[in-house]
Amino acid sequence: MEGNAALRALPSVDRVLGLPQLLPLIERFGRAEVTEAIRAVLAEARAGRVPPGSAEIVAAMAADRLEERDRSKLRPLFNLTGTVLHTNLGRALLAEAAIEAAVDAMRDAVALEFNLADGKRGERDDHLREILCELTGAEDATLVNNNAAAVLIALNTLGAGREAVVSRGELIEIGGAFRMPDIMARAGVKLVEVGTTNRTHPRDYRAALHAGTGLVLKVHTSNYRIEGFTAEVGGRELAAIAREAGVPLLNDLGSGTLVDLSRWGLLREPTVREAVEEGADLVTFSGDKLLGGPQAGFIVGRRDLIAAINRNPMKRALRVDKIRIAALAATLKLYRDPDRLAERLPTLHLLSRRAGEIEAQARRIEPQLSPLLSPAYGVEVCECRSQIGSGALPLNTIASAGLRISAPRGRDLEALAAAFRALPRPVIGHMKDGALVLDLRCLTDEAGFLANLSSLSLPHGMA
Ligand SMILES: *Cc1c(COP(=O)(O)O)cnc(C)c1O
Repeated sequence: MEGNAALRALPSVDRVLGLPQLLPLIERFGRAEVTEAIRAVLAEARAGRVPPGSAEIVAAMAADRLEERDRSKLRPLFNLTGTVLHTNLGRALLAEAAIEAAVDAMRDAVALEFNLADGKRGERDDHLREILCELTGAEDATLVNNNAAAVLIALNTLGAGREAVVSRGELIEIGGAFRMPDIMARAGVKLVEVGTTNRTHPRDYRAALHAGTGLVLKVHTSNYRIEGFTAEVGGRELAAIAREAGVPLLNDLGSGTLVDLSRWGLLREPTVREAVEEGADLVTFSGDKLLGGPQAGFIVGRRDLIAAINRNPMKRALRVDKIRIAALAATLKLYRDPDRLAERLPTLHLLSRRAGEIEAQARRIEPQLSPLLSPAYGVEVCECRSQIGSGALPLNTIASAGLRISAPRGRDLEALAAAFRALPRPVIGHMKDGALVLDLRCLTDEAGFLANLSSLSLPHGMA
């Protein structure tokens, strides 16, 4: 057919809509949505962007369009990057108890700011205050949207219009535009840097403290380490210096953890309880890093300072909704039984999986994956190192195992990585030394992973 004749022969919208095979589509997406998709396909055909076709072809193209539009970009995926708390992949996976609590809170009305005992108004922080104090030894506690917000509101409350003294070795950038100097500026606090990049001494802090000082800030340098000729003032000593000068010490722990991780063979991170015991007046930490809950930022410490934070109008803008409060309360409760924590808290479960167990899993999967990829790609079981992620213990990787996929004839690994990402449940690995590595530390649903692979469509010409 001539091009113009083919265009003239394009079916009408009504003709396509009338096809019996469109009924299930209309049932699922609604008539308006299906009509819109058909119009869009016809318009593209007229514009020459897709070849003109019969009513049946137009219907099939409209169906593809609707499917594609409907498929969530936020659908679950397999995080085989080897980074357990991957910020770009949503950090901590919630415990079942937390998921159930969140779902319950979503579905029904809850006593979020309502006191069931006397029928009067309650406070949303009340749901977490007691358990946070119990787990950290702090006098009082509050929470906001995330730890960046916790630092922002704490700085603003303690130091607006005044100075915050911080070591040059702790002026961190966390990524995603969280830079301590910028946060300070937005909090209305004047930054006073003391010491040098590698060494800061007690006398450096003392020399900077004066009547215009609002607070002393200590930041856990979670995502880097300064090694060699170094000196830092520890939390206890710094607390004494701040107390002497009559100003509060804010300790931003970043990840923070509520338990000593060495119990599970992981390296020690400072616990929140330790920071409180050392004498910090306020301690801030994240909900979705090592703690293993949903996104949130906690502030624990002195009652009068927490009260001041709660009076800050910023608090209303940074507050947390009922869904997360429910999930957080359920997550924190798990910490009352440390013996079963690794069973129940996915973050800890994944971080504490032994390399031997992961290697056995890789050996089971390799013979099923290899035939799907050969002969274009080679698959072998490999050792690898997982990371905790989110800036926690960045230099301490954990022995793990996985599958190393290489392209012996120089085939395009990027195309293979794209094919894995296009799966119904996307598989995300990472490139290392010219190979695509799938670290299996976070693979808990092995059967689901294998079933998903049946949809793998190899890059063109590589099957
Ligand atoms: C991660 C981190 C933050 C930011 O916490 P979010 O929960 O991501 O907002 C702040 N300070 C430190 C030291 C951190 O490690």
